[in-house]
Amino acid sequence: MAMTCPDCGSAMEAGFVVDHGESEMPRVASWVEGAPEDAKFLGMKVGIKLKGRRKIPIGALRCTRCGLLKLYAMNQT
Ligand SMILES: [Zn+2]
Repeated sequence: MAMTCPDCGSAMEAGFVVDHGESEMPRVASWVEGAPEDAKFLGMKVGIKLKGRRKIPIGALRCTRCGLLKLYAMNQT
């Protein structure tokens, strides 16, 4: 995947965004449809609602010169 930075024209390298959550098990962060809504259990906030939402892992390209990040939803095959 040879991409160049839309800002400075330098090479971009492929990577991804990690979501550490509250556990020590890192995961790839995902794009989720809609606006974020608090999930509640017994009146307490327990994160955000994800049930029934489409989720797609996020890939990230990083410009090796200016640091611009270009995020994209990875194709699921
Ligand atoms: Zn750049």
